[in-house]
Amino acid sequence: MVDRLDLDAYVSMISDLNSAGYVFSKFSDEITVNDPPCVLLRHDVDFSLSKALELARIEANLGLQSTYFIQVGAPSYNALSIRSANIVSEIISCGHTISLHFDFLRYSANISRGLVLELETLRIHYSCADTSVVSLHRPGLYSGTLSDLLLTGGMSHTYEDRFVRDFTYFSDSGGCWREGNPVTSLAFEARRSMQILVHPLWWLTQGESPTEKISRHIQESAIETAEQMEETTVSFSLESVRDQLSSNLKPRCQWC
Ligand SMILES: [Zn+2]
Repeated sequence: MVDRLDLDAYVSMISDLNSAGYVFSKFSDEITVNDPPCVLLRHDVDFSLSKALELARIEANLGLQSTYFIQVGAPSYNALSIRSANIVSEIISCGHTISLHFDFLRYSANISRGLVLELETLRIHYSCADTSVVSLHRPGLYSGTLSDLLLTGGMSHTYEDRFVRDFTYFSDSGGCWREGNPVTSLAFEARRSMQILVHPLWWLTQGESPTEKISRHIQESAIETAEQMEETTVSFSLESVRDQLSSNLKPRCQWC
């Protein structure tokens, strides 16, 4: 049976980890692997900072800490806008950590320089960001050696052996558990430490499939874009635009 990725499933996974004695740690913590077993809970924010904040609030209510890796040049959000600054500051005030999610494909000519530039940008805008660790966007497309690239920036990355071999690695990339569900795994049974990569979008957007979720997210984002346009320069009736966009957000079933 395919595991559903939704909020109920997320809360249930966290509850299972807590009941089993797992401790939620940060990448920069001094960690003794498996004693006690710990979870490095990582969020790569590819599409939406608003969804990241939603999950950050939920996690704060559940009493756990995680790390949100954000892009400074994402195609679908602007990490440096005033709205984003407010979101990031609330994520941090929830007790979470902010770090860089680096898309090396933007720097085909000089990837190392791109990394240094993005780290500096993150530091300037978010002085409390943890720039000692970076998470790569689409690492499978990188043809070089990850360690060579990141040593140039003088930092560690989430795919180092100590984070993916000493820890058992689980990822929801593509909208499903690639390596199986963490809490029904042999690693969980053996109380081995884990790194779990969770993309907020898959868990907080309605839809039966990843495609449906992406499609719904795009419609929801249109409303957010209208709000930002209204906040900044454009003068129009936000209510009517919102009504028009909302009418396109049909429920999944017309009878419910
Ligand atoms: Zn990514």
